[in-house]
Amino acid sequence: MSIDTLTPVLTANWGAERSWTLASYEEHGGYAGLRTALAMAPDDVITAVKDSGLRGRGGAGFPTGMKWGFIPQDNPKPKYLVVNADESEPGTCKDIPLMMASPHTLVEGVIISSYAIRAHQAFIYIRGEVLHVIRRVQAAVDEAYAAGHLGKNIHGTGYDLDIVVHAGAGAYICGEETALLEGLEGRRGQPRLRPPFPAVAGLYASPTVINNVESIASVPSIIANGADWFASMGTEKSKGFGIFSLSGHVTRPGQYEAPLGITLRELIDLAGGMRQGPDGQRHELKFWTPGGSSTPLLTAEHLDLPLDFEGMAEAGTMLGTRALQLFDETTCVVRAVLRWTEFYKHESCGKCTPCREGTWWLVQVLARLEKGVGSEEDLDLLLDQCDNILGRSFCALADGATSPISSSIKFFREEYLAHLTHGGCPFDPAASTVFA
Ligand code: NAD
Repeated sequence: MSIDTLTPVLTANWGAERSWTLASYEEHGGYAGLRTALAMAPDDVITAVKDSGLRGRGGAGFPTGMKWGFIPQDNPKPKYLVVNADESEPGTCKDIPLMMASPHTLVEGVIISSYAIRAHQAFIYIRGEVLHVIRRVQAAVDEAYAAGHLGKNIHGTGYDLDIVVHAGAGAYICGEETALLEGLEGRRGQPRLRPPFPAVAGLYASPTVINNVESIASVPSIIANGADWFASMGTEKSKGFGIFSLSGHVTRPGQYEAPLGITLRELIDLAGGMRQGPDGQRHELKFWTPGGSSTPLLTAEHLDLPLDFEGMAEAGTMLGTRALQLFDETTCVVRAVLRWTEFYKHESCGKCTPCREGTWWLVQVLARLEKGVGSEEDLDLLLDQCDNILGRSFCALADGATSPISSSIKFFREEYLAHLTHGGCPFDPAASTVFA
């Protein structure tokens, strides 16, 4: 597999000198999409995004143009655009590098998207732990104001827009769009019931589009190059390109921007293969997550499946955030799953019982299995608990918590049982670099 397989668009200028500055961004063609968009009618911008086939890059893959089209333009309330930059899914590391390397791609996308839905106020909600990212995005917003890309009468078109960069307070749940809105309104971050969806009643009960960073950052290139250009990449129903984040036991972890539909085998090849041991022997892939730990695990059998929304659904999982976490044969799957489940238990907002109590119980049962002091019946108990959580909780957090458990029992039942016969973890923890 050659480097030509990659489609650097969002990542194209990450290596440029001071790539985060307005001067560097404009030198590489930045803000051309904005000028084109402002010469178009807002509805035509929405049509272009619909025609491109862009689907939400935050994980769920909802068609972006369709979401924008839901904003009721006859509603006299203000319309808002909110960028979900609360990237927190384990293994997911695409939005934060994008905002660090090229924050103006996001700012330009926000201006075009706000113009399309006729919003005059936009918010970028960034997870609180990443202060350096918040500062960088704020600096880009300040530069955009100074250059006349933001504020009153943008480029003499009569269109006004303000952007507020908002720092979250470090809760995973605030990446759930309605919990994010609660946080933005100054309340405790807990999800709201949907419907109504934010497009109808979102921020301050007004029509609100909430999109992921990468979705919004893809918009300038679609407007500058045309919907057909974007739709010519990817697969029939999963158009365009995306940033795939490879982490774990691979030689060169990092972000690889490629057309949707690429396979993990191709990506591993681009990333220099699985890591080598001290003896020069290459390790073997054992299991991986397609889109962070809230998407069911896959194994080496699934290396040639297309990494697109349909391919992953057919395999019983989800494309999610394209957070490809790779684990080799030195990793104990039970330990990895326990570690993730502890994360979900810690991050449960506590609002609904299946999540608050369920994730706690999942950790209890998994922990005793991992220590080798459980029983074979515990595996059925775990699956029963997952059944009682899935689809019964307030939002997707608890559903996600069940994914690594049920999928790992499906593929690695014997490894769970080996903990019981061994009286503890049969793996040498020192051999694994991931969860050591
Ligand atoms: P969802 O499918 O319920 O909704 C996706 C989007 O489409 C939302 O913006 C929603 O408002 C909109 N939508 C759906 N149906 C609609 C309708 N009928 N009318 C108007 N709008 C509609 O998914 P979700 O619960 O918002 O998100 C779950 C996803 O989040 C998972 O797929 C997971 O991969 C992802 N996730 C991402 C991160 C991260 O760090 N990026 C973290 C955790 C989870």
